[in-house]
Amino acid sequence: MSSNATGYNKKSVTDIDVGGKRVLLRCDFNVPIDKETGKIRDEGRIVAALPTIEYLLKNNAAVIACSHFGRPKGEFKPEFSLAIVAESLSKHLGKPVIMAKDVIGEDAVKKSSELKPGEIMLLENTRFHSEEEKNDPEFAKKLADMADIYVSDAFGSVHRAHASTEGVSHYLPAVSGFLLKKELDYIGGAISDPKRPLVAILGGAKVSDKLGVISNLLKISDAIIIGGGMAYTFFKAEGGKIGNSLCEDDEFASVLKCKEEAKTRGVKLLLPADSVAGTEFSNDSGPKTFKSNEIPDGMMAMDIGPEAISEFTKEIAGAGTIVWNGPMGVFEFSNYAEGTRAVANAVAASNAISIIGGGDSAAAVRKFGVEDKITHISTGGGASLEFMEGKTLPGIACLLDA
Ligand code: AMP
Repeated sequence: MSSNATGYNKKSVTDIDVGGKRVLLRCDFNVPIDKETGKIRDEGRIVAALPTIEYLLKNNAAVIACSHFGRPKGEFKPEFSLAIVAESLSKHLGKPVIMAKDVIGEDAVKKSSELKPGEIMLLENTRFHSEEEKNDPEFAKKLADMADIYVSDAFGSVHRAHASTEGVSHYLPAVSGFLLKKELDYIGGAISDPKRPLVAILGGAKVSDKLGVISNLLKISDAIIIGGGMAYTFFKAEGGKIGNSLCEDDEFASVLKCKEEAKTRGVKLLLPADSVAGTEFSNDSGPKTFKSNEIPDGMMAMDIGPEAISEFTKEIAGAGTIVWNGPMGVFEFSNYAEGTRAVANAVAASNAISIIGGGDSAAAVRKFGVEDKITHISTGGGASLEFMEGKTLPGIACLLDA
């Protein structure tokens, strides 16, 4: 699969000679920490970084890994030290990971200059410097000065122009790692050259967050399915009764424009015919099914109903490519999880290339145990959304063209 038609046809780590070179590798080691034990709760991001690291080490590069971790707000705070990641990484690699005491300071510079081919070190949390998020050129240059090549493998951060995600590319030849390349191939492939029909499924709470993605997907999709809290702004905009359901009144004009554009372009826009609503935002709120534009006062729609499930899953079954971002309802509550579960199962059962944006839809497919049947689950929620919006992602745009 090529990432050509997205405008992103970028060099990857296999397109450049890394032997004997010092490689600055931007990873996403922003791992979740268990508040009680202080230990890493899920090592998924560390495991995901291994293929690129192992490739580089095997090909005799000296790897200087870096990442942000939490929000230390520009100063050294021990609880945001990446030392805990170095330990886990070392366990997975079966070799030592040299931990620097700083990011661009004396210790990092000394250790990076002494690093030999086939060895790996980890810099401290890039966000210990406020210059990181400001994309300060001097800070970026100091990071870059430690290396000969920059490899980006942190998809979750490519929508941000920070020193370690974009700034360093001004001083070093910059290419993607395997994890980033996979995102480019799958998301890029789905939106640039999809196997048709392309069915987009959009859900989640706020329609205002998703207007950009709806607008771009309207240009390329054959059908768009809209569920979740964001659907009710569409119903109210057309004069429907939605009770206490989520609604953004100031977006009426925008959602009506989306409907109009779908009609003009011949894109099927599916909204949930019925919904399951309760008396308050809780699991035990007496779920009842109503037509989505006839929800009584005092009731709040929190899931799509059986008729909507049937219509949506039929559309999904016929898809060639599926992109999904956002749950169909409050899937965290068991009484309102059925719509999201049914959509997850339908996506898993389909023969389509299926791509799940990060965040809540990724959590949903994991919760419902169908992650193995999905073609690609993105590692970046915000980044995958901006990618599908057709926005320029600075951390990708800055890489060398293939
Ligand atoms: P988002 O971050 O916009 O993708 O929204 C995800 C969140 O939307 C999830 O936590 C869901 O519980 C919530 N959500 C989905 N549907 C509804 C709904 N009908 N009413 C309230 N919250 C919803």
